[in-house]
Amino acid sequence: MAKYAAPGRPGSMVSYRERYDHFIGGEYVPPAEGGYFENRTPVTGEVFTEVARGTAPDVERALDAAHGAARAWGRTSAADRASVLNDIADRVEDNLEALAVAETWENGKPIRESLAADLPLVVDHFRYFAGVIRAQEGGISQIGHDLVAYHFQEPLGVVGQIIPWNFPLLMAAWKLAPALAAGNAVVLKPAEQTPASIHVLVNLIAELLPPGVVNVVNGFGLEAGKPLASSPRVAKVAFTGETSTGRLIMRYAGENIIPVTLELGGKSPNIFFDDVAARRDAFYDKALEGFTMFALNQGEVCTCPSRALIQSSIYDRFLADATERTRAIRQGDPLDTETMIGAQVSVEQLEKILGYIDVGKREGARLLAGGERADLGGELSGGYYVTPTIFEGDNKMRVFREEIFGPVVSVTRFDDFDDAIKIANDTPYGLGAGVWSRDGGVAYRAGREIQAGRVWVNNYHSYPAHAAFGGYKQSGIGRENHRAMLDHYQQTKNLLVSY
Ligand code: NAD
Repeated sequence: MAKYAAPGRPGSMVSYRERYDHFIGGEYVPPAEGGYFENRTPVTGEVFTEVARGTAPDVERALDAAHGAARAWGRTSAADRASVLNDIADRVEDNLEALAVAETWENGKPIRESLAADLPLVVDHFRYFAGVIRAQEGGISQIGHDLVAYHFQEPLGVVGQIIPWNFPLLMAAWKLAPALAAGNAVVLKPAEQTPASIHVLVNLIAELLPPGVVNVVNGFGLEAGKPLASSPRVAKVAFTGETSTGRLIMRYAGENIIPVTLELGGKSPNIFFDDVAARRDAFYDKALEGFTMFALNQGEVCTCPSRALIQSSIYDRFLADATERTRAIRQGDPLDTETMIGAQVSVEQLEKILGYIDVGKREGARLLAGGERADLGGELSGGYYVTPTIFEGDNKMRVFREEIFGPVVSVTRFDDFDDAIKIANDTPYGLGAGVWSRDGGVAYRAGREIQAGRVWVNNYHSYPAHAAFGGYKQSGIGRENHRAMLDHYQQTKNLLVSY
């Protein structure tokens, strides 16, 4: 067992600034008019830094800087940009533990996940897009004897990026890596709950980039996010967040007729077919582990498998074993490497989740595990902890239909294949899904029938940089994490030349 020292305590790897201004044009710039807001850690509930509260003039200033830098950056060679991205990856890798502590302290997630998943994926995303941009080729084709077509991929220019708080550094990497690889300059707005980890990262990599290529404006959605997303000076908006916010972003962008990428909410089904329980072996064990994935990252994952569908013939046995496994999830200090579930990101999120637990009880769902705020004692008493919660009910209930974004799973049964698919697809969302079966044919057919952009078969919650990720239905528009992502940050220029 190892425990990382909390920031501000002796021996910590991270020391925050007393305040974080906006990062614009390669330097820190105080807010034009918005003042500062407090940044609290969900681990203990204490304030650990304050952050500039961005408003429209700050966004304008960041856009000035980005426009000043975009042309030169867009004209660098793909090889040069790849080299910068690889340097960023190296820098992150060299400081991986400190960044993991920063993210855990600000978000509340267990350090074991920050160390083993979030930060290695950040590194990989920068390396992946460094490779992809180098491998991209323009095309030359002969149209007629005297006519030749040249195709060039050009950057869009200046793009606005707005990210959530659940994986602050990984969400930043998902957005920054392809945009920079393609030659764009960026104005990034972090979530108001987790700006400091973004600045810890930016401080590390700033010197690797020309000033103005990456700018960060902190602040709240309507005050800083809206002016960015509705600015006629951005060529694209890339957004990750709630579906209701995505609807607004699309409306703002519509005014300027610019493209959007929207990565939105979900209510992902996790389907367990009866052959899963044919034997109590390693596969069965893996499926039980797959069930508990609803509590990964405290359930604050867009693809949280928040609806578990279990076939009737194995329902009682599987659910009993899954409940036992869920009760064994170790909740504790997020900075302790043994901890498996940490704190919810904010007191608002804590209250929202507890509110949904009340809704579930009132609408008649049966509570099988958890369902309460956890008091972990000592310094952690002020933190925002919820015990992993299992509800049993039916797919019409609100706890089956609405995104809770906490460690809450709603379980129901199905009779046969068609029934499973019908329940799985009975949702306005279509982001992720899990399918568990020993029968490759069943798993394949289910994978194809489910209306979701990502279906995990006999595993859950892996996010390799080269696997396309994104939503069907109201879970979003566009894809991330695949070389196709470059298309979302480039436009095609065609020169048709007569000789
Ligand atoms: P949110 O929509 O409240 O906020 C996301 C970001 O948008 C924040 O930076 C916020 O300040 C900003 N914002 C809010 N209102 C805005 C407005 N009117 N104009 C411009 N910007 C605005 O979402 P959240 O609570 O931070 O994140 C949780 C949500 O994100 C969940 O719904 C989750 O499913 C979703 N999510 C989706 C993915 C995905 O890849 N599909 C990944 C992670 C999270």
